[in-house]
Order: sequence, then C-alpha cells, then structure tokens
Amino acid sequence: KAKADGKNLYRFFDASMNSLSEERFVLIKDLRDALKRQELILFYQPKVDLRSGKLVGAEALIRWQHPERGLMAPGQFIELAEETGLIVEIGDWVLEEACRRCKSWHQAGYVDFEIAVNLSSVQFARGNLTAQVEKALRQSGLEGKYLELELTESLLLGEGENIQSQLNDIKKHGVSFSIDDFGTGYSNLGYLSKYPLDALKIDQSFVRKIHDSKQDLNIIIAIINIAKSLDLTVIAEGIETHENLQQLTQLGCQFGQGFHWAKPQSPEDFLTYVARNIDAK
Ligand code: C2E
Ligand code: MG
Ligand code: MG
Ligand code: MG
Repeated sequence: KAKADGKNLYRFFDASMNSLSEERFVLIKDLRDALKRQELILFYQPKVDLRSGKLVGAEALIRWQHPERGLMAPGQFIELAEETGLIVEIGDWVLEEACRRCKSWHQAGYVDFEIAVNLSSVQFARGNLTAQVEKALRQSGLEGKYLELELTESLLLGEGENIQSQLNDIKKHGVSFSIDDFGTGYSNLGYLSKYPLDALKIDQSFVRKIHDSKQDLNIIIAIINIAKSLDLTVIAEGIETHENLQQLTQLGCQFGQGFHWAKPQSPEDFLTYVARNIDAK
C-alpha cells in the first residue's frame, strides 16, 4: 500500500520518477517505522587511554537491523534521517539508550566508563536539545560527567548564538563536548575558543596515512599542538595497527579508538570484550 501511495506522490511532484526516488521513498517509510519496531541498535566501540592502555569507555554508533536489507550502517540512512527530520526522534532515542547502557556498565562494576554520542546539527536546530539531554540523564540516572557529545565542525560554524547558549546549558550538567572528524572540515578555527569544548577527535583519514605521508603526520602534529594550547584533549580515530598506536602515543595523543582494539559491536559483545580486555594494551 505504501509503495502505491509513494508512486502517486512522485508522479504528482516529479514526472520523471525513477527507481531511485521510489527506493528512497520506501526507505523513508521504513525508517519512520524502524523506531516503533525497535530495529535501531547502538553498537559500541571501545575508547582507550593510550598511555595506560586502560579502557575508558565507548562511542555509541547506530545501526539499523532492517527486516530485508540486513544490518545497515549509519552511512546508509543518517543523511536521509537528517533530510526528513526523523533524526530528531532517532537522536532522542540514541541519547536515552546510550545513557541507559552506560549506567548499566557502572552497575556491572565498570564505574568510570564514559559514553560518547554523535549529534546531528538538525538536533540543535530544533531547539530543545538541552531538555532532551536532561531527560536522558534523569531517566537513566547517569551523571553528566560520563556523557560526551560529539559535534561536527560544520555545526559549530553555523548560526552561532543559539548553539552557544545550548552548549553552555548542557555543559552545566558536566557533559563534555568533542569535535568529530577534526581537520576535515574548515580552516576557520575561530570557533575553537568561542565554544565550551573539551576534545578534538583526529579524523581517521589522517591516522591511516601517518606512515606514508609526511603531510598527514604534520597535520596530526599541528592538531595536537592546537589542542595543547587550547587545553583540549586529543582522541585519535581509526587506529588500526600497533604502529599507528605507537606513533600517536609518542606524539602525545591521549586517547584512541580503532580496529586495533575492536570494531563497534553489539552491547553483549562489547561487555564480553570489556571483561576480557579491561586493560586493553
Ligand atoms: P564517526 O562518529 O566519525 O565514527 C567513526 C566511524 O569510523 C564509525 O563508522 C566506525 O565504525 C569507524 N571506525 C572506527 N574505527 C575504525 C578503524 O580503525 N578503521 C576504519 N576503517 N573505520 C573505523 P560508522 O559506525 O559506520 O559510523 C559512521 C558515521 O555515522 C559516524 O562517524 C557518525 O558521524 C555517524 N553516526 C553514527 N552513529 C550516529 C548517531 O547515533 N547519530 C548521528 N547523528 N550520527 C551517527
Ligand atoms: Mg563520532
Ligand atoms: Mg569521526
Ligand atoms: Mg566520521
């Protein structure tokens, strides 16, 4: 039925309806249902203190267990969720689920674990993100200091005032902020001192090439220096090899994530991993 409706709609708006727009329409409908049907899942990738080798927590990364398409990665549906506004509802769920899960780790004895959650700029545009974060913390009983929100450079370069006041309000709960994929976006760094930030995440594209390219190595060194002078922590993404790990540790990078330790995994698998690797070195 939905498929037929979709066809009529597209014929009305766009005479050149093609299979791509039809597939898109079907996927939007599926995504609308995904939350109610509990098809969305958070996977967790460990975050490690590079010097001590200790696990300090995890980043929550969304997956969609689609009934026909199988397990879908965020690259296959987050953009669609943003374009349709569905990311608002999905983002609320992500926050609540991630905080709940982190609290359950604390109750399992991993009392200091932190959870990092990716935010979309659309969630800020809506305006009540602060209330949503407060709700997620209240409902889960998680202390704000264990929650880290990952922002993008493009978000921070958007309309400033509103974002600034939202970040300040959220910050009052002890929540921290990091910039994801740092270095891939813009050369304008003015926003770094304007917002209440705590960490920079070096994009994996630099980390991957650190041994082959002097330029990428220099970019990483520059990012670490910027972070030091602004009193920000540095997290390297996409550490895949022991070599990557050694070099980044030597350069003074404090935290890391990557396949060297583990891929993002289901909550159950993550806990098994944690039990075996509480010292991940
Ligand atoms: P991100 O936040 O930069 O997450 C890092 C991505 O790199 C993840 O892809 C992760 O699986 C992958 N990765 C981690 N370590 C390695 C490694 O060593 N090697 C390689 N090759 N890849 C590694 P994933 O899970 O497909 O997520 C892609 C992006 O989707 C994320 O990038 C984030 O921007 C977005 N995303 C994920 N979950 C959410 C969510 O709940 N909300 C929003 N708004 N965006 C999300
Ligand atoms: Mg991230
Ligand atoms: Mg990233
Ligand atoms: Mg990324």
